[in-house]
Amino acid sequence: MPVLLLAGAGHAHLAVLRALRRACPAGWHVVLVEPQARINYSGMLPGWLAGHYSQAEIGLSVAELLAGAPVLWRRDTVIAVDAEARRVVLGNGQSLDFDLLSLAVGGQQAVPACRTPFLLPLRPLAGFMAAWQDWLRALPPQACPRIAVAGGGAAAVEVVMAVQTALKAWPGSEVSLLAQRDALLAGHADGVRAACLRQLQRKQIHLLDARLTVNAAGEACAGDQPLALDLLILATGSQAPGWLTGSGLALDAHGFVLADAGLRSISHPVIYAAGDVCTRQDMPHARSGVHAVRAGPVLAANLLACMRGEVVRARYVPRRASLYLLACGSRHALASWGRWHASGALWWYVKRWIDRRFLRQQRTAAMSLSDSPVRGD
Ligand SMILES: Cc1cc2nc3c(=O)[nH]c(=O)nc-3n(C[C@H](O)[C@H](O)[C@H](O)COP(=O)(O)OP(=O)(O)OC[C@H]3O[C@@H](n4cnc5c(N)ncnc54)[C@H](O)[C@@H]3O)c2cc1C
Repeated sequence: MPVLLLAGAGHAHLAVLRALRRACPAGWHVVLVEPQARINYSGMLPGWLAGHYSQAEIGLSVAELLAGAPVLWRRDTVIAVDAEARRVVLGNGQSLDFDLLSLAVGGQQAVPACRTPFLLPLRPLAGFMAAWQDWLRALPPQACPRIAVAGGGAAAVEVVMAVQTALKAWPGSEVSLLAQRDALLAGHADGVRAACLRQLQRKQIHLLDARLTVNAAGEACAGDQPLALDLLILATGSQAPGWLTGSGLALDAHGFVLADAGLRSISHPVIYAAGDVCTRQDMPHARSGVHAVRAGPVLAANLLACMRGEVVRARYVPRRASLYLLACGSRHALASWGRWHASGALWWYVKRWIDRRFLRQQRTAAMSLSDSPVRGD
């Protein structure tokens, strides 16, 4: 029986699961490899950090997602792909052969090799959330922690403001953003960057205008200054999974899978990739949840066409501009859409409505067709 292997329960695979639930082509065996039992929605993570949401509100259980889908769940991690042999190797050492492979494994957090003990990478999100809770629980009431978030992208900005909100119960705490001023919110309009700087200032978050480096002694530094901190959160953007290097797949200069408009690998037509793990050869775009979600229906249409032996036609055409809503810790958000921007409490409520609706839709889609039990091993 031919096998469709879905690697990772990334955003685009949520649409694939919905499509498979509606009409799985007969004669195919579908396997999802995903290490986490709960996937946390990154868009709501800053809201969780700031105390607006509970952990249950921002997560989806994989078993819940797979309810009613004719999919076998292997709770494991892909650690290697052999594109020629059509085989993946799992963390437990087993290998799985596939006829069709779809990668939605996202990116990884780059962690600098340094001796500093207080580093906390944002990804994987589950690990970050557990470590943050432990750190916060261990903080004495009279503590004055010094904490910095490294990174200049939207995630770093949202996380640093959420951390500042979370630490309000510790009035002596010092919160900093370690990012080069010029690179802050790159790709967003100047007005958004200026509004962000104003928010940082208003919240007394220091901008350490430097890059994160590691000195010869192995210490984490802001530029060439060793950092004296209690915690450094790494939110420095996505890095390609290292195991893609030996896969035989065509990759871009940074190791991400090169895909065409149909999200198909440009070197191996039986392999698809969507979300942060891929780079569009014809139309490179930002790595963001927005694109990962929108690519989902295209990926689903093309995978199902392949399974039915039909011509692959769907193309993912990224919009010229997408709406980004950046939560500012308290109930306030910055809205950014191309050159346009706005800010205020209204946008925070819009963001909350969009994020909650997204999760509700995933849960409802699973529940409405959940007659058959989830298969797992
Ligand atoms: C704090 C934060 C806030 C953000 N806010 C926004 C926002 O508001 N808007 C926006 O557009 N973007 C936002 N982003 C960016 C967004 O999270 C990513 O672009 C998006 O998650 C990428 O989606 P993906 O489906 O490619 O991968 P992911 O969402 O990372 O999903 C990958 C899945 O694959 C699994 N996996 C990983 N490795 C393996 C493996 N080797 N084998 C099997 N499974 C594997 C993971 O467990 C995970 O379930 C934010 C990011 C962060 C960190």
